[in-house]
Amino acid sequence: MRLSTLMNPRTCLLCHSLLEGRRDKKFCDDYCRNIHYHQNLGAGDLKVKRIHDVLRKNRKILVECRKLVVDGQTLPFESLEQRGYQFKYLTHIEGAREGHPTYCCFDMGYIIRGQSVEIVQIKIPD
Ligand SMILES: [Zn+2]
Repeated sequence: MRLSTLMNPRTCLLCHSLLEGRRDKKFCDDYCRNIHYHQNLGAGDLKVKRIHDVLRKNRKILVECRKLVVDGQTLPFESLEQRGYQFKYLTHIEGAREGHPTYCCFDMGYIIRGQSVEIVQIKIPD
């Protein structure tokens, strides 16, 4: 057991077993985390959470893929698909009026260019 764990014991929010490892860890495993969220969230909240999880994952995929190319370069659609991008989940669409809609997940988005996508970072006002 690590010294930091001994000095500052943290326990699983569900089963109260001792936690080791990452400081922000709240549960000992996925099982406890899932049960906790099912107990504490209403059915509606859980659906919102699931969609939010998908959106966050989509954004993460866009960030990863953006790093693969330089400005203005495109990537094949499959680059997103293979990483598990779920196209039907997006936060908003920008630039539709200009004829080049950017399908956004928070501050990241993609523009369709033929069979490929250009991944862009969206400027969000402070
Ligand atoms: Zn637990």
